[in-house]
Amino acid sequence: MPEIRSSQSELETRLKTMRRRAIISSGPWFLWINLLFCLFILGRHYFSPLPQFVNDTQEIPVLEILMGLILITSSSVIFILRMAHDPHAEWLGKLLHGALVCISVLWVGCFYLFLASGDSRIVFPFAALLIFTALISLYFDARILLSFTLPIWVVVLICNFVYPSELTMLNAVLYVLLAGLFESGRRILRGWFVLAISREQETRDLIKQLKMLANHDPLTGIANRRSFHLQLDKAMQRQQQCNMPLSLVMLDVDHFKKYNDYYGHQAGDECLIKVAKCLEDATRSTQDVVARFGGEEFIMLLPDATEQQAIEVAKRIQQNLQVPGIAHAGSPATPWVTISIGISTLQPGSSASRLIAEADAALYKAKEHGRNQWQTFTHG
Ligand code: GH3
Ligand code: MG
Ligand code: MG
Repeated sequence: MPEIRSSQSELETRLKTMRRRAIISSGPWFLWINLLFCLFILGRHYFSPLPQFVNDTQEIPVLEILMGLILITSSSVIFILRMAHDPHAEWLGKLLHGALVCISVLWVGCFYLFLASGDSRIVFPFAALLIFTALISLYFDARILLSFTLPIWVVVLICNFVYPSELTMLNAVLYVLLAGLFESGRRILRGWFVLAISREQETRDLIKQLKMLANHDPLTGIANRRSFHLQLDKAMQRQQQCNMPLSLVMLDVDHFKKYNDYYGHQAGDECLIKVAKCLEDATRSTQDVVARFGGEEFIMLLPDATEQQAIEVAKRIQQNLQVPGIAHAGSPATPWVTISIGISTLQPGSSASRLIAEADAALYKAKEHGRNQWQTFTHG
C-alpha cells in the first residue's frame, strides 16, 4: 500500500489557509491596539495640543488623521469578522491588506506632524511599539507585515534627520538596531509557524495512512472486512430511511487450494489481485463496494440494487473472468480460474447479519450445484 505524503503544493495551500486563520485570530488584537494608540494620541492632543509648524499658520490636521485611523481600523475589524464567515472570499483578504497599508500611511502622516512640530518624544517609542505589535500579530505574512511596518520605519528614520534634535544620532542607531531585531524576530516566528504547519500536515498524513491501513486489504488494495461491515451498516441505515433495495454478492474462488498447490503461494496472491480487479471492473458505480471477506472469498455491497441488478453484476464478473482468463491448470473443472457466486437481497424487516447469511447460503448452493455459477437465495 503506498505511503501517503503531502506534496509541496498541498503544504503551500495549507500554509495559505493557516495564514488566513492566523490573521483572523490575531488581526483584531492588532487593530484594537491601533485603536487604543489613536485614542491615547487623541487624548494627549486634547490636553496638550501640538505646537504650530514654524512659519505656518495652517491648522494641523492631526484630528482628521486620527479620525481616519479610527474609521479604517474599525472597518478592518469588520473585514476580519466577514473573513471568518466567508473563507472563500479572497477579495476580503486583499481589502484588509489595502486597509492595513492605509493605516500605516496615516500613522506615517501622524508621526510626521509630531516630528515637524518638534514634539518627537512620543514618536520613536510609539513607532517602535507599533512595529513590534505588528511583528507579533502579522509575522506569518511577510507581505502584509512589511507593507505595514516599512513605511513607518523609513519615514520616521528620514524625519529624524530632516528635523534634527540632540537625540538624532541615538534615535538613528536605535532604529537601525530595531530593524535588525525585527527581522531576526520575524524569521524565528515564521520558522516556528512553518514547522507547526508541516508537523500538523505530517500528523494528518499519518492519520490518513492509518485509516487506509485500517480499512483496506493490504494484498489486493480493496476494502477489508472491517470496512465492509461499516459500509453495510451505513447502507442499512440509508435503506431504512429511504426504503431502497439493497443486495449482497458473496464470491469464492473455485479450487483455489489447488491453484496454490500448482502454481505456488505467490502466484496465488497475484491471482487474488487479478480477481479483485475483475470484481471492481464489474461494479456499476463508485457506490458499489468490493471487499475481501477473507482468504479467497470476496463480497460486494450493491446499494439501491434489486436482485435482477445484482444478477447483472454477477454475469459481468463471470464475463470479466473469462476474457482473457487466468490460467488454472490444476483445476479439475475448467482450465481457467472461476468463481462461485451467492446473491441475496434485503427483505423488509431483515438484518445485516441475515443478509450476509443468506448470501453465504446462496454461495453454498452455487458450490453444491457444480461451482462456476451464480445462485440467489430463495425465501420461504
Ligand atoms: P472451493 O472450490 O470449495 O472453494 O475450494 P478452495 O480450494 O477454493 O477452498 P479451500 O477453503 O479448500 O481453500 C482455500 C485456499 O485459499 C487455502 C488457502 O491457502 C488459500 N488462501 C487463503 N488466503 C490466501 C492468500 O492470501 N494468498 C494465497 N496465495 N492463498 C490464500
Ligand atoms: Mg472458501
Ligand atoms: Mg474457494
